[in-house]
Amino acid sequence: MNFELTTEQQMIYDYGGAVAKDLDYKYWTDKARKNEFTQELWDRVAADGFLGIMVPEEYGGAGLGLMEMSLLMEGLSNHGIPLLMLVVGPTMSLGLIAKHATEEVRRAYLPDACAGKTQFCFAITEADAGSNAMKIKTIAKARGNRFALNGTKTFITGADNADYALVVARTTPHDQVKRKTDGFTLFVVDLNAKGVEMHLVEVSVPTPDTQWTLFFDDVDLGPENLVGEVGKGFDILFDSLNPERIVLAAQCAGIGRFVIGKAVDYTSERVVFDAPIGSYQGLQHPLAEAKTQIEMSSLMMRNAAWLYDLGKPAGAESNMAKYAAAEASIKAVDTAIQCHGGNGFTKDYAIYDYYPMVRLMRTAPVNRELILNYIAEKVLGMPRSY
Ligand SMILES: Cc1cc2nc3c(=O)[nH]c(=O)nc-3n(C[C@H](O)[C@H](O)[C@H](O)COP(=O)(O)OP(=O)(O)OC[C@H]3O[C@@H](n4cnc5c(N)ncnc54)[C@H](O)[C@@H]3O)c2cc1C
Repeated sequence: MNFELTTEQQMIYDYGGAVAKDLDYKYWTDKARKNEFTQELWDRVAADGFLGIMVPEEYGGAGLGLMEMSLLMEGLSNHGIPLLMLVVGPTMSLGLIAKHATEEVRRAYLPDACAGKTQFCFAITEADAGSNAMKIKTIAKARGNRFALNGTKTFITGADNADYALVVARTTPHDQVKRKTDGFTLFVVDLNAKGVEMHLVEVSVPTPDTQWTLFFDDVDLGPENLVGEVGKGFDILFDSLNPERIVLAAQCAGIGRFVIGKAVDYTSERVVFDAPIGSYQGLQHPLAEAKTQIEMSSLMMRNAAWLYDLGKPAGAESNMAKYAAAEASIKAVDTAIQCHGGNGFTKDYAIYDYYPMVRLMRTAPVNRELILNYIAEKVLGMPRSY
């Protein structure tokens, strides 16, 4: 991996600093507390041409890769502005459509999404399947050369603001396939289509984006909705899921840096005995440890993004980067809260606001235990435990 960023990559990484001058972390925490979408921020990122980072130029994108998308997220998060919708839309959905959809489907959806005129969310989770995505039941039954989609997805981030969901469905039920990975198909579903309904899932995480349960009742789909081949969706799914892990690792690393920076400023000023509390090793060591772990996870994230962009296997690296960054960011925010004393819990200092967000990353989009299972089995070659 080349550790030196190109001029363009550096510009993308530094973009968060420019945005924060107008729409800083207070803007983000205010929106997060109200569960209100950061529309101004989204419009700005769209106008500056960053929503289509992973989309080729002929479809309105920038023709760059996952490294640049991760740097964008990391740079924004460094300033306390973790723009979560960059993950489910521009990374997971647009990236996948650009890579695997037909020319017609790309032309139908990508230019408007890159321009910020339309938004995407990503829907795989089902209540009864949970972490075991093999068991999803949402089914698109063939009806001539079309399909009828039926089923329920839950915890779908940003579905209320999105025009489309990239839905992971089955075209053959899991008990009728030879290999359990057969029979998956990916569709772009218009969330305003007949047969689609959504209900809010109330979540106690302050974020600008809310979660929704989607209900599909005989939603009509055709070749114009298809991403990849019928029945072969599993083969391309990890071109969404690995990038998701990598960009969320970037988000965690950025939030970690942000809160550590705030803790350093605060503890350098705050005097309760005779010297600034930041002069005590009891505060310095946890901050230094958190900083080290954040920088390690950031390097792991960049390594995973670099491999992905080269088209090399990046599953192990993506999982390990996500695990490392989630754990490092939890430690970083927890340490920053402790350094702020009572002020770690005030709305004014807005440190605690970041805790639920990073804690969520231990559980979603893939939980810590499943990642450790993967590392034990696929990296260490140990027996499958479940
Ligand atoms: C705020 C939020 C936003 C989300 N956004 C989206 C979204 O946009 N799109 C989407 O599709 N989904 C989304 N999700 C869903 C999320 O990806 C799932 O909640 C997550 O994958 C865990 O699935 P589950 O909740 O069913 O947990 P379960 O599968 O029920 O697991 C519960 C716990 O059991 C343990 N566990 C499970 N299996 C094993 C095992 N084999 N070995 C060891 N331990 C195990 C783990 O600790 C796990 O945390 C979101 C969730 C939340 C909370």
